[in-house]
Amino acid sequence: MSTRKEDLPGYDVIIVGGGPAGLSAALILGRCRRRVLVCDSGRYRNHAAHEMHGFLSRDGIAPSELRRIGREQLQPYGVEIREVTVAEVRREDRRFELTLEGGERLVCRKLLLATGLVDRLPDLPGLAAMYGKSVHHCPYCEGWEVRDQPIGVYGQGCTGISLAVNMKTWSDDVVLFTDGPAGIQKAEAQRLERHGVGVREARIARLEGRDGMLERVVFEDGSAVERRALFLKTTLEQGSDLARKLRCKVTDARGVETADKHEETTCEGVFVAGDASKDVLLAIMAAAEGADAAFGINCALQEEDLA
Ligand SMILES: Cc1cc2nc3c(=O)[nH]c(=O)nc-3n(C[C@H](O)[C@H](O)[C@H](O)COP(=O)(O)OP(=O)(O)OC[C@H]3O[C@@H](n4cnc5c(N)ncnc54)[C@H](O)[C@@H]3O)c2cc1C
Repeated sequence: MSTRKEDLPGYDVIIVGGGPAGLSAALILGRCRRRVLVCDSGRYRNHAAHEMHGFLSRDGIAPSELRRIGREQLQPYGVEIREVTVAEVRREDRRFELTLEGGERLVCRKLLLATGLVDRLPDLPGLAAMYGKSVHHCPYCEGWEVRDQPIGVYGQGCTGISLAVNMKTWSDDVVLFTDGPAGIQKAEAQRLERHGVGVREARIARLEGRDGMLERVVFEDGSAVERRALFLKTTLEQGSDLARKLRCKVTDARGVETADKHEETTCEGVFVAGDASKDVLLAIMAAAEGADAAFGINCALQEEDLA
């Protein structure tokens, strides 16, 4: 016998995502005495990182430790956490119906998408095993750790050039690897030269190192350049397609777009926080956006219930 809609387990808020954005929102909403469920599929953007930097009071701890503390501090407030993937979502009048992997259905009044982003890496032999250890995308997260070291930047076009020049903030020894002819314009070449950034356009054969630590970039002609770290821009994709399923506005440049107040998306009742909305992609920003979304959600529920 199928479950009638009115009998489905109901929550004030379901938060999809158990990273810093989702857990931070859950803390505020739990303290607002809301019935909250966090669904966490266990796929965190920073899974490859062993340390997390730049988070006030938590600088240098493991990302998993931040989540452990976050979950522990939710306990007094009765927030439910389930390790599960939300497979489907749809709007049903003034509420949302979610289907979990396995088929279970739940309903909620407000929905928070804290589903993060996924990084796609360039297809360079040796790179994947070094990502998060000596190959990085974020100088704010890892630049200090490799300060004054020989640094490589992998990239093409303006993106590669800007990243290479900006890495001079952390080291005097920066080489840009374009992995093929780059067609660098005169003004850009002058900028690189002015800041002492070397350029190598040869095709890369592989990255070599030990235990995930880069030692050298090896070219197809057999020559090599010694480096201790490599920075690059990854290609970013949404961590889930739930926002698109709900017809929220999602763009490559801005991710899941917010309207003008407290992280609400272009779909009423659907909020977004953290990397999924592509602002500054740092954990502390994700946590702050989670708190902002929670404030917006609680205000919206108060308006509905206490008018
Ligand atoms: C290698 C690396 C190192 C980094 N280092 C740092 C650092 O040092 N300092 C820093 O500030 N930032 C760092 N970052 C960035 C940081 O990881 C992100 O800014 C932060 O994790 C964003 O938090 P979030 O909660 O938005 O997303 P995430 O932490 O990625 O969490 C997304 C959540 O959504 C869940 N999810 C997605 N879809 C579904 C679904 N359908 N159903 C259920 N759950 C779902 C996932 O399982 C996960 O729980 C790093 C990133 C990378 C890749």
